[in-house]
Amino acid sequence: MEQELQLKPLALPGVEDKRPLVIAGPCSAETEEQVMETARQLHNLGIKIFRAGIWKPRTKPGGFEGKGVEALPWMQKVKQEFGLLTTCEVATPEHVEQALKFGIDILWIGARTTANPFSMQALADALRGTDVPVLIKNPVNPDIELWVGAIQRMNSAGIQRIAAVHRGFSSVDQKIYRNSPMWHLPIELKRRYPNLPIICDPSHIGGRRDLIAPLSQQAMDMGFEGLMIESHCNPDCAWSDAKQQVLPDVLDFILDRLVIRDNIETTESLNALRKQIDELDNMIMEVLTKRMRISREIAEYKKKHNMAVVQTGRYSEILDKRGAQGALCGMSPDFVKDIYEHIHEESVRQQMEIINK
Ligand code: PEP
Ligand code: MN
Repeated sequence: MEQELQLKPLALPGVEDKRPLVIAGPCSAETEEQVMETARQLHNLGIKIFRAGIWKPRTKPGGFEGKGVEALPWMQKVKQEFGLLTTCEVATPEHVEQALKFGIDILWIGARTTANPFSMQALADALRGTDVPVLIKNPVNPDIELWVGAIQRMNSAGIQRIAAVHRGFSSVDQKIYRNSPMWHLPIELKRRYPNLPIICDPSHIGGRRDLIAPLSQQAMDMGFEGLMIESHCNPDCAWSDAKQQVLPDVLDFILDRLVIRDNIETTESLNALRKQIDELDNMIMEVLTKRMRISREIAEYKKKHNMAVVQTGRYSEILDKRGAQGALCGMSPDFVKDIYEHIHEESVRQQMEIINK
């Protein structure tokens, strides 16, 4: 039996309860000037929640790992001068302690941390007894149970003001996105926990400025509650994630153009289903591409060993096996056979190219 979540509304002071809930700010706090200037511009545009990474998880050592504790007073100043709520990533109990000491209003758990149950438990224990809102990013890998588990751990420690952040998932065959959106995963989370707000992070999904607007619109069309968008007063010179940060003015432009449909209920389910179909079609294309790549590798092998391209025994085996499998999955064996004949034909065509090279 899946653990129920005991959730309370985020109820963020000074933030209107309307879609989208917007969190904006730089990937990282770099200097006091950069933090204050970005916050000033965002505040003037009506943004209420300011994000900045204080401790930065970097894939390899030697990169900019965040200013750490030194930057926390800058966040305090943002709050005092502009009345913005502040949020930063925490990955260890020490981060939690420091962030709370400096009055950070909302904490977020990064994707690498969500993927680690030990870290999640340590953070949940560190937060026990507080009522701070916690945003939990999806784990880097597309495993919804890890995401749910992280949320459950936090909730079991008494944290009830929780939102999930959808920032996309690592995938081997990356094409357009830095992190593949795999919309079916946040949609499944929403299906299991309709009261859990979902905030989309188009900056980390897209990895590119020009993808922020379309991804934000998709998130809104899917009925998600909020957006977390990286914004910097001088994005090209950002010390981390420069390509995916936008000027506050650009952010304002993007938000302004979003179409927020009130009557989401009617279209939401259809959009969600279509999104899932698109996602699955993308997966089919990725798998087919991979299959063709391996098939070309086989051609290299056959060429080296002077073997014929088409080996009828193997071909019949594939058709029989997949036909039977298709029937078990409720599909007509002829349909599956047709598909495999086409796949095989293309595969042979590609192998011929290699053999005759
Ligand atoms: C970030 O928000 O800057 C960040 C590091 O995010 P993620 O954990 O999603 O990679
Ligand atoms: Mn970032």
